[in-house]
Amino acid sequence: VDGENPETLIKNADIAMYRAKTGGKNQCIYCSPELKDETITKMKLTNSLYRALDRNELYLNYQPQIKAETQEIIGFEALLRWNNKEYGLVSPNIFIPMAEQTGLIRQIGLWTIKTACEHFKSFKKCYGKDISLSINLSIEQLRDNNITEKISKVLLDTETNAKDIRIEITESIAFNEDPNILQRLIEIRNLGISISIDDFGKGYSSFNRLKTFPIDILKIDMDFVRGITSPSKKDRAIIRSIIQIAKNLNIAVLAEGVETKEQYTYLKDNGCDMIQGYYFYKPMPANEIE
Ligand code: C2E
Ligand code: MG
Ligand code: MG
Repeated sequence: VDGENPETLIKNADIAMYRAKTGGKNQCIYCSPELKDETITKMKLTNSLYRALDRNELYLNYQPQIKAETQEIIGFEALLRWNNKEYGLVSPNIFIPMAEQTGLIRQIGLWTIKTACEHFKSFKKCYGKDISLSINLSIEQLRDNNITEKISKVLLDTETNAKDIRIEITESIAFNEDPNILQRLIEIRNLGISISIDDFGKGYSSFNRLKTFPIDILKIDMDFVRGITSPSKKDRAIIRSIIQIAKNLNIAVLAEGVETKEQYTYLKDNGCDMIQGYYFYKPMPANEIE
């Protein structure tokens, strides 16, 4: 049933073992046909990702960020998109982890910074006001000891002012364990770039980190924003507390995933500085932003 020759049997056993390992230890997993299909698709997808840059399948969308008080646009977050010939639009939640696992994220990430800086130059010219550009950076990119020089070179090449750039990183265990990551972040911040913590509150949030890491902005995770309208008062309490802590530490707060007027009003009234979400703007291609 699980393979008609030794090679296939071992391969399928390997697929099941891999799944068991990723699902935590001490599990028994059988190699079902669904699991096999999934694994094959993932392998094909990963192979296509290797060629995505060369085939011009990657592009960037930009989501405006607004000042809560005045509703004026104060910046944009660059969001990576992959339109594959065979699979169509693949979600970043699927292909970014693949890019991280394969190490491709370093190359793709650098392309993202360069492309975003080029677009940003044109946004600035069109808009005429002070705006910033937020770029997501994977922890994997921070493991590259030369990342600071690479970013610095892109800024120089694209004539971008470091003061206009914000790097977004999500919290992860790596944060705590690898002292090099802190070092890279300090170097990047010394260029004049500011640091945002993405999806704050979702994963491994640590108060200690707010103390030790150079942080300029906290982005409240959208799960909390969704809870604003729920009967339980817990999400609202957490949001108010995050805003208070941030204020006391001189860190700005941005709420993401704001979809309704009610959510926006609650956040503004409780001192949230910036807003990002479908209620105001969805991510859009560069020409639409212009
Ligand atoms: P993120 O950085 O937290 O980005 C916010 C995500 O929320 C984006 O999803 C955005 O489209 C979505 N979003 C914004 N407003 C709303 C809203 O009002 N409602 C809802 N339901 N969603 C909203 P997206 O573009 O699918 O990106 C997912 C994640 O993929 C990002 O989360 C980020 O972690 C990662 N990502 C995207 N681009 C890059 C990149 O260039 N580099 C790296 N390393 N990661 C990236
Ligand atoms: Mg982000
Ligand atoms: Mg986020």
